[in-house]
Amino acid sequence: MKQSYDVIIAGAGPSGLHAARRLAEKGHEVLVLEKKAEVGRSVNCAGIISRETFERFTIPDDSRQRDIQDVRLVSPSGVSMVYRHPRPFACIVDRERFDRDMARAAEAAGAEIRTGCLVEDVVPVESGVSVKTGMDEGGEAGHFRARAAVLATGVHWDLSRKLGLGVPRGRLVGAQVEIEAPEIELPTMFAGTDIAAGGFAWAVPTAPGRAKFGLITESDPRGCFHVFADKHLGGLAGSGLNGDVQYKIIAQGPALRTCSGAVITLGEAAGQVKTTTGGGVSYGLHCAEIAASVIDERLRGDGGDKIDLQEYDRAWRKVLQREIQLGLFARKIWSRLSDTHIESAFRVAQEDGLIPLVQDHGDFDWHSGLITAFLRQASLAKILAGVGKAFS
Ligand SMILES: Cc1cc2nc3c(=O)[nH]c(=O)nc-3n(C[C@H](O)[C@H](O)[C@H](O)COP(=O)(O)OP(=O)(O)OC[C@H]3O[C@@H](n4cnc5c(N)ncnc54)[C@H](O)[C@@H]3O)c2cc1C
Repeated sequence: MKQSYDVIIAGAGPSGLHAARRLAEKGHEVLVLEKKAEVGRSVNCAGIISRETFERFTIPDDSRQRDIQDVRLVSPSGVSMVYRHPRPFACIVDRERFDRDMARAAEAAGAEIRTGCLVEDVVPVESGVSVKTGMDEGGEAGHFRARAAVLATGVHWDLSRKLGLGVPRGRLVGAQVEIEAPEIELPTMFAGTDIAAGGFAWAVPTAPGRAKFGLITESDPRGCFHVFADKHLGGLAGSGLNGDVQYKIIAQGPALRTCSGAVITLGEAAGQVKTTTGGGVSYGLHCAEIAASVIDERLRGDGGDKIDLQEYDRAWRKVLQREIQLGLFARKIWSRLSDTHIESAFRVAQEDGLIPLVQDHGDFDWHSGLITAFLRQASLAKILAGVGKAFS
């Protein structure tokens, strides 16, 4: 069994798989180690990904279920409006299939993927890193060597902590269940402090007649999901859904340190997640491109055996830091709005200015333009000033 590679990647989510594909395309020997028995198994995700992501990163699009141009918005009191964007801006994907497609693309480029392999330790050594995996079915631990390692482990931060790398400081919690729901025809977003404190809830149509119901919240995900289910799903207790709801942490904010010598963190492990919505696939792929290009350059460089990937930390922050920080600021404001404030914002949206702003500045992945435009909008600024007063 081969034990020495150019790069070892822990975690076969979208970020790790895309880095693997790009590095293999550049001619490097890459091994991806995934603890789950299968890539893409039981992924907790609403599966909304921008159209730009598919085009920009040449992702196979078999997982695309439908495009999104219209979104229903529901206020805390149940007022509903449909927003239509000038063009389709995102798509609903079968996320498990999306991950499997990405794995196939990485393998086609020459990367090797081993599933059922928990990475237990990554230790810096003179010429790179030594990687140890948990025992296989025969009771044997795996030992590998590589010149560089990528930790793309999502919200599992044990390895990052062991190596003294930073972890994202903030957390939200996501909760989701997929059920029969033929009445959900449009992706729908629900606002309300009782159903998603500091966050929002959603219903996303998936296969014909089915939908994912989910939410992200700053606190009490179980309590929030119960209220959400009572209001919009005909209750949870009597529906037998209790055990099917999956809960998962979502990283909020960038890790302070994402590189140590020849090891980097990537994707949600590094906090490369939209701080507004909690979506992490597209930022993970942007950073995977950056990681692959920095690692490629260093592996080809003539700095001897020792590799320093510090440039990666600087390069990804240049692209994302402002988006992530402005998103955090916007979320802070959002989390302070009462239901009355949200109803006022709905009224403003229905009566004047906000819809054209979203049509002009809205971008599914890049939110700073819209946030800045919102803050400059007089009627919304009035509501926010009210929030400021309430807190001062
Ligand atoms: C309810 C919910 C809804 C969401 N909806 C969306 C959405 O609509 N759109 C969107 O863009 N994002 C969404 N997200 C976020 C998105 O799922 C993540 O940001 C994204 O999966 C991060 O990709 P990643 O590759 O960085 O990590 P992950 O996809 O989490 O992959 C990490 C992989 O590493 C493996 N791993 C962990 N530790 C080890 C180890 N020690 N050894 C080996 N393998 C290991 C894990 O098993 C996993 O397969 C949602 C999240 C939640 C919770």
